[in-house]
Amino acid sequence: MSQPRVAVIGTGVIGAMTTWQLVRRGADVLAFDTYSPGHDRGASAGESRIFRTAYKEGSNYVPLLQRAGRSWRELERSASAELLTMCGGLTIGPADHPDVQAVRRCAEEHGLDHEVLDTELARERFPQHRIDDGEVMVLDPAAGVLRPEPAVQAALRIAADAGAKVLPHHRISEVAETAHGWRITSGGTDFDVDHVVFAPGPWARDLEPLRSLPIEIRRITACWFAARDTAAHRPDRLPIAIRRHRDAGFSCFPLLDGVSVKIVPHHLGWPALDSPDDLPRSAEPEFARAAAAAAARLLPGVTPHPVRIGTFAEGFTPDEHALLGPLPGHRNATVMTGFSGHGFKLAPVFGEIGADLALRGSTEHDITQLDPDRFARA
Ligand SMILES: Cc1cc2nc3c(=O)[nH]c(=O)nc-3n(C[C@H](O)[C@H](O)[C@H](O)COP(=O)(O)OP(=O)(O)OC[C@H]3O[C@@H](n4cnc5c(N)ncnc54)[C@H](O)[C@@H]3O)c2cc1C
Repeated sequence: MSQPRVAVIGTGVIGAMTTWQLVRRGADVLAFDTYSPGHDRGASAGESRIFRTAYKEGSNYVPLLQRAGRSWRELERSASAELLTMCGGLTIGPADHPDVQAVRRCAEEHGLDHEVLDTELARERFPQHRIDDGEVMVLDPAAGVLRPEPAVQAALRIAADAGAKVLPHHRISEVAETAHGWRITSGGTDFDVDHVVFAPGPWARDLEPLRSLPIEIRRITACWFAARDTAAHRPDRLPIAIRRHRDAGFSCFPLLDGVSVKIVPHHLGWPALDSPDDLPRSAEPEFARAAAAAAARLLPGVTPHPVRIGTFAEGFTPDEHALLGPLPGHRNATVMTGFSGHGFKLAPVFGEIGADLALRGSTEHDITQLDPDRFARA
C-alpha cells in the first residue's frame, strides 16, 4: 500500500510538530507556509515561551503537558538542539488570587511537586520580583523556558531529513475537496493529497473551509527591559513567572539575549485585529509607558524603559481552548487552530494528536475539551 499523502497548511509550531510526527510514521508530507520557518509574523516567535505543568488553565491538561515535556526532550535529542531550559516557574500574587489558587489546586490534585513561598521567603529567594505584603509565590519545578524559533526550525529540519517536503514561501490560496481527498493550490500549482491538516494559526479565517470557525485574531505585545545585574536574571537564577498584582499582570521570562528580561503584559489588553496581515510592528507610546510603569513597580532590577518591543498575532476562541479535531462538515481534514495564547508548550503533543487524526482518524489522548464543533452545538 502506498503511503498516505498529507498536506500540512502552516508551519508555525503546531504545523511543524505535526509534520515531524507524520513523517516519522511514514506519511508522505507536504508542509506549506506563506513565510519561512521561525518567522515573526504569526504566533510562534519572540525568543521565549513558557512551559509549565501546574496549569491554571485546567488540571485536565496535566497529562498532555507531561507528555509534551517528554516530547520536547525527544525533539532536542533528535535535533541536537537545546530548546527547553527547566528553570522552574513561579505564579506570583495575592494568596487568594484565582490563578494562585488554581495552580495550587492543580498541583495538589495531580500530586505535582510544588512549593508555596510565603511573603518573606518569596522576597528572600527571588528579590528580582518586588513582592507586596500578603503576596505569595507558588514554585512549579516542572516549568521552564522554550526557544520558539529554534524549536520550529528543529522540527522541520528533522522532518525534512526524514523525507517531508517543507515548502516555505508557498501560500495556499485555495483548497477544494475531491472525490478521494483534497486539491491544494499555491502559486498556480495544484497538489492532490489524501488528507489536509489545517494549522494556519491566526490566519484560519482566510481559508474557505475554516471561515465559520469562531476565531478572534488578537495582537500580543512583548517588551524587553535591560537588567542591571544580568547574572541575577538568567534562567539559572530567575524562573519563568506569571505575575498577578492589583495594578498589573504579566508573564515574565528570564534573560536569554545577554541583555534583557522579557515581559508580556496581560493587564493592558490584547486588542483584536481584522487580519494578522494588519499587525502593527510597534506598540503605541501609551502602551510602552504603561508596560514601563509595571516593570518599574514590580521588577526592581531592570531599567524600566523597553529596549525592544515585539508584536505578534494569535488566534483566540471564545473559551480560550484550542480547536483541535476532525474539521466539522468535511472528510479527510484535521483542524488545529485557536491556541489562545497558550499552545506553544503543548505543541509536540498536539503534533502527535494531529498525526493520529490524519492517519487513523482518532487519538487516545483526551481532547474532548478541544472539539472544533463545540460552539456550533452549544
Ligand atoms: C506573544 C505571545 C506569547 C505567547 N506566550 C506563550 C507561552 O509563554 N507559552 C505557551 O505555551 N504559549 C504561548 N503563546 C501561544 C503560542 O505561542 C501559540 O499558541 C502557538 O505559537 C500557535 O502556533 P500556530 O502554529 O498555531 O500559529 P503560527 O505560529 O501563527 O503558525 C501558523 C502558520 O501558518 C501559516 N499560514 C497561515 N495561512 C497560510 C496559508 N494560507 N498558506 C500557507 N501558510 C499559511 C503562517 O504563515 C504561519 O507560519 C504565546 C503567543 C504569543 C503571540
